[in-house]
Amino acid sequence: MVPQRSVHTLPKVHVHAHLDGSYPRQAVLDLARRRGVDLSEHDLPVRGGPFGTAQGWRDVWEFFDAYGKVPALVADLDDLAGLCRALVAQEAAQGVVYLEPAIEPQLYAPRLGSLREVTRVVLQALGEAGGEHGVEVGSLLTVNTDQDEPIAAELTAVAVEFAGAGVTAFATAGFEEPSGLQRFASCAAAARAAGLPVVAHAGQTGGWECVAEAIDVLGATRISHGVRSVENPDFVRRLVAEGIVLDVAPVSNVALGIVPDLAAHPAPLLHAAGVGVTLNADDQLWFGRSVSDQYTVAREVWGFSDSQLAALAGHGLRIEGMSAATRHRLGAALAAWLEDV
Ligand SMILES: [Zn+2]
Repeated sequence: MVPQRSVHTLPKVHVHAHLDGSYPRQAVLDLARRRGVDLSEHDLPVRGGPFGTAQGWRDVWEFFDAYGKVPALVADLDDLAGLCRALVAQEAAQGVVYLEPAIEPQLYAPRLGSLREVTRVVLQALGEAGGEHGVEVGSLLTVNTDQDEPIAAELTAVAVEFAGAGVTAFATAGFEEPSGLQRFASCAAAARAAGLPVVAHAGQTGGWECVAEAIDVLGATRISHGVRSVENPDFVRRLVAEGIVLDVAPVSNVALGIVPDLAAHPAPLLHAAGVGVTLNADDQLWFGRSVSDQYTVAREVWGFSDSQLAALAGHGLRIEGMSAATRHRLGAALAAWLEDV
């Protein structure tokens, strides 16, 4: 039998992880206890099973409902900083060398401070913890296309202010597609002018046309999900030609009913076609699977060999926000992982 290396030590990036859906479970439960909030494991259900089944979310509203409980627990900026630090520790233990969570300061502002102040505290906590754990941490300053149109310009100004100082990309997120991205085109243009790449959620509930819209209207160079691009082979060729990276989240896609099961996930097809595909957890707190677990899926469900796993993880080298030093470190660590049997 061919020896298998650990997916936990596989050096990797984690670049599609929503901060508030990714905090370690224990850190959330500890915070609830400290704050005297009656929150049990029962209130934080792990639903990584297929959508609509007993092991999965009943519908997206149940998911969004649960999701909102965690930001509501955070009573001050110290609580928030503590959760950010716990997240970085969790990711370091998964072999992550570059972490780029999606941050939404608007979930805490104005309750805990201004958008700028919340962002500053989050970036500082992530950066300090990254230094302690040997993980480079960037962040996607994220506008929610379902809700944030009124404050999108303000969020963009914060992204621009912290560009290169913790913020490594401007992003849009949202479950509803088409997202009407034209409304956010001027924000994306301002972010790009400040040197920030644009990363857009698209091609999750919407088809390849929505991915095309994100590229054409926002100038996105990375797509969160994008899995439905696979429905149009010509469009897949465009993704390859333009070097667009898809930050996919296989377990999340099953949990939210985007694909019927892991075996049917299009990531292996997209990877084989030459698309840059990174594997991500999306919301580990709610789907119960880490970034490393996504590589276990690649190995056990898609039949990837260790060298194929390393090639997959190697797509992480294409993430623009990463420093040259981390890029070099990731490349060397991937080669070392393959040599070490
Ligand atoms: Zn997402």
